[in-house]
Amino acid sequence: METKSGEDALTLPGGTGGDSCAYDPPWATVTEREWNDYRWQIANRVTDVSQLASLPGIDPADRELLRRVTSIYRVGITPYYLSLIRFDDPADPIALQAIPAVEEFTDIGLDDPLDEEKDMPVPGLTHRYPDRCLMVVTNYCSMYCRHCTRKRIWTLGEGSKTEFELSKMFAYIRRHEEIRDVIVSGGDPLTLPTARLEYILKNLRRIPHVEIIRIGSRVPVVLPMRIDAEMCGMLEKYGPIWLNTQFNHPREVTPEAAAACDRLIRAGVPVNNQTVLLKGVNDHPEIIRRLNTSLLKAKVRPYYLFQCDMVRGLEHFRTRLSRGVEIMEALRGHSSGLAIPSFVVDVPGGGGKIPIMPNYILSMGEERTVLRNYEGIILSYEEARSDGRPSARPDDAGPTPRNDVYRLMTGEVKSLVPAGNERMARRKRRCESGSPAT
Ligand code: SF4
Repeated sequence: METKSGEDALTLPGGTGGDSCAYDPPWATVTEREWNDYRWQIANRVTDVSQLASLPGIDPADRELLRRVTSIYRVGITPYYLSLIRFDDPADPIALQAIPAVEEFTDIGLDDPLDEEKDMPVPGLTHRYPDRCLMVVTNYCSMYCRHCTRKRIWTLGEGSKTEFELSKMFAYIRRHEEIRDVIVSGGDPLTLPTARLEYILKNLRRIPHVEIIRIGSRVPVVLPMRIDAEMCGMLEKYGPIWLNTQFNHPREVTPEAAAACDRLIRAGVPVNNQTVLLKGVNDHPEIIRRLNTSLLKAKVRPYYLFQCDMVRGLEHFRTRLSRGVEIMEALRGHSSGLAIPSFVVDVPGGGGKIPIMPNYILSMGEERTVLRNYEGIILSYEEARSDGRPSARPDDAGPTPRNDVYRLMTGEVKSLVPAGNERMARRKRRCESGSPAT
């Protein structure tokens, strides 16, 4: 590969620099300093159809289809992420996540299946769970993942929230003292200028009841050079901050990405991973096992394995739930528990995340529970004998306001009745009118 200004030649990982592919990317004259500068990476992203059409493996005849797809769903691929693609593999899992596909044209799915907009008291702020809220602070991403859940916001342009818009979100959080955990998301918040991200974190830290800040970002995967000393120094000031990222394939865990995670961890920012289960990319137990063990080596915790959301344009990525359960079945017993994420599905309609896993309880009696292990061996587990002593209680035990299945477990309520249950509505009408049963 040629270099500019006589600096050392740069060897790129993956397909673009490998012998298996003669492709010379348009940035073939990059210097090492430029390559490691996130600004250069952003300035040289693949963002239009003519650049896409020049990529190896793309049929020039597909140009019109690509134009139609990208007129709805924008494209953006950093040179770094592009360099991980093996262009001689038509089913390359990195390419599937980055390069637009004609399958994105579909009516199947919804723009906002998780109903984030319906739980949005202030534009950009979703408040669904009692003690947490989500702030969408920008629509911009350094790479636009083809499987993104928030594809709907791409059409709003590449802007970020103004100080005025952010001030409304801060005011809402300030008014709601039950919010103790704020997720700063997007788009990708780590693509914001450092000073703007600092403005957001500083304002959140001024709210006394905000204990935890979480940042959702794919930057460690697609633009690891953005995690530089300036960014880490700034994040360190506003901890505790947790970062949730999204590695989906073991080939994404490169030395550059692992080093970026290491820099975050050294700045006091723990890194968790939220893999999305994607057909053709990672829907195989061995791929997920290798991904998770690579992440553990990089000190990143495999946190969630997400069922791909029912978003319009993503149907070709969705697997059956049973595939996720099969993967979880294959992981248990063959990987350290640290390398086993929770498999969850975010059910359309705003039901939130529901964990799904193989069933290990075969039966439960008062004295014994029958379990099976990962090998299928069935075992009897002897329960503790009750000696009448009470369970532990926190020092400041008072009534905990809850409205969930836990209250059934404690006996606080006898039943939870779905709204709209006709039998219960009839019973209520009878009680109110004093009339006999009909
Ligand atoms: S980085 Fe996140 S928000 Fe941006 S396109 Fe990818 S998944 Fe969507």
